[in-house]
Amino acid sequence: MTTPEKPAPVNFIRHIINQDLETNKHGGRVATRFPPEPNGYLHIGHAKSICLNFGIAEDYPNATCNMRFDDTNPTKEDIDYVNSILADVHWLGFEWAGDVKYTSDYFDQLYDYAVELINKGKAYVCSLSAEEIRRTRGTLTEPGIDSPYRNRSVKENLDLFTRMRAGEFKDGEHVLRAKIDMASPNINMRDPVMYRILHASHHQTADKWCIYPMYDYSHPIADALEGITHSLCTLEFEDHRPLYDWTLDNITIDCHPQQIEFARLSLEHTVMSKRKLNELVTRKFVDGWDDPRMPTIAGIRRRGYTPESIRDFCDRIGITKVDTVIEMGVLENCIREDLDANAPRAMCVLNPLKVVIESVPADKTEMLVFINHPKTETLGKREIPFTREIYIDRSDFEENPPKDYKRLIPGGEVRLRGAYVIKCEQVVKDNDGNIIELRCRHDEKTLGKNPEGRKVKGVIHWVSATDCVDVEVRLYDRLFRADDPLVISKSADIKDQLNPDSLVIMEHCKAEKSLGTAKAGDTFQFEREGYFCVDNRHSTAERLVFNRTVTLRDTWAKIQEKQA
Ligand code: ATP
Ligand code: MG
Repeated sequence: MTTPEKPAPVNFIRHIINQDLETNKHGGRVATRFPPEPNGYLHIGHAKSICLNFGIAEDYPNATCNMRFDDTNPTKEDIDYVNSILADVHWLGFEWAGDVKYTSDYFDQLYDYAVELINKGKAYVCSLSAEEIRRTRGTLTEPGIDSPYRNRSVKENLDLFTRMRAGEFKDGEHVLRAKIDMASPNINMRDPVMYRILHASHHQTADKWCIYPMYDYSHPIADALEGITHSLCTLEFEDHRPLYDWTLDNITIDCHPQQIEFARLSLEHTVMSKRKLNELVTRKFVDGWDDPRMPTIAGIRRRGYTPESIRDFCDRIGITKVDTVIEMGVLENCIREDLDANAPRAMCVLNPLKVVIESVPADKTEMLVFINHPKTETLGKREIPFTREIYIDRSDFEENPPKDYKRLIPGGEVRLRGAYVIKCEQVVKDNDGNIIELRCRHDEKTLGKNPEGRKVKGVIHWVSATDCVDVEVRLYDRLFRADDPLVISKSADIKDQLNPDSLVIMEHCKAEKSLGTAKAGDTFQFEREGYFCVDNRHSTAERLVFNRTVTLRDTWAKIQEKQA
């Protein structure tokens, strides 16, 4: 969404597109696509690709971006994944051109092009096993070995390929391979497999097919059939580009999109591979794909991130050809800034300590007016009851305070946010010496102004103990201990990399009464505690559950600074 305040991003891909428009390379058209495989939920790395592809379509006149499922692997795919991916793209605020597309829409054409390649002597049926194909493929320093089936006649190839399609063979008995060059320095060009036999039902085509095309063969053709101009993918496909071009150069098709690679997003303290994320889900280390600790779009949404904050993040990290690992703090700053500007303020005591204000009569309730946001008047005002019994946070009282402690101490004073100054007169303990409550007095003359001649430095948050809501609060931290995603993905068992403190559940937190009507997804700044949102899965009207989206400040940066 380009506005006068927010100019379109500049990056090397947009430079290429600008040049292509000047030279009329693709007839002045710009068409991109986002092509996920529906084998898992989208993650924040996909968001980078989504913002890039759909962002180009938004910014260039008449440009389009297709939504295409790269669904050539039926055993790993599922319609649930299809639906979640579509919902996530919409949630991020993007709209695709026309109908949703599927590579499986083109299975007939892909088959016909394979027959064309066979007829031209550029593809053959190979009857080596997968293991033998791997073994004869050679290495980076040694050429591969020709398959003994490489010189089958066109007639024999056509016959076998037809019978592969007809279901006459078992999985793995034959494959169709491109006939390129087993001595190519690029391993991807050593007669890559184009089709494999897979007797598996497909979520779109059911049992129509028992042979399925490989990604490297189907992707360029699907792009060309859709008239894509710029096929943007991540750097690991750079070595596949010659095969992308070879495929289109050797079939009869009048469109040749340009593949351009960019660096994938990696984030500290997490992994982006759907396979690894799937493992976290299936081994129940997390509460599903949308666990708020997951780097999935669904997880981040449940955590309380807004679409704007994710789009802002993608703008900030930009598009380059250099692989880097982004600090989690960069993502967190985006949501922190968004919520600082837009989330209403509220008070919630996470670790309650009862305070009895003996100077307030037991039957008195005074309604105090609070503004919901210090800068945004449109967020309005609310009333908070002030009563004889209140809660403050246990950490806001110290019997033996360290130097410079500005909050409540025995005999000391503190200001209750938006209310009065109170003085602690007595600390009540149980038989084991645990503090059960504080006895205080308030100073009536201090509502909204400082007491004359007395300096009260500390301001703490509080809620009425007799007029509040009991809520559950979930505090999240990094899911993985290591900051290096490579360490995480290479770890023998992902379990050993998990941060045991990534989730802390606080029950019986006390929130101000106005939060009682909060709905799933609503976000708030809990004064002095951070930004929180109502969980969209476990929260009910009877029992509100809040997720901490992010802390008020970047505490990790501070810890790291100290360590350095
Ligand atoms: P994964 O390893 O997570 O399964 P993938 O690349 O196999 O990733 P796809 O569903 O095939 O996932 O990806 C769809 C699109 O999203 C592709 O164009 C891919 O390049 C892009 N993409 C995937 N991961 C990232 C990432 N970390 N950063 C940027 N783009 C990504
Ligand atoms: Mg994939």
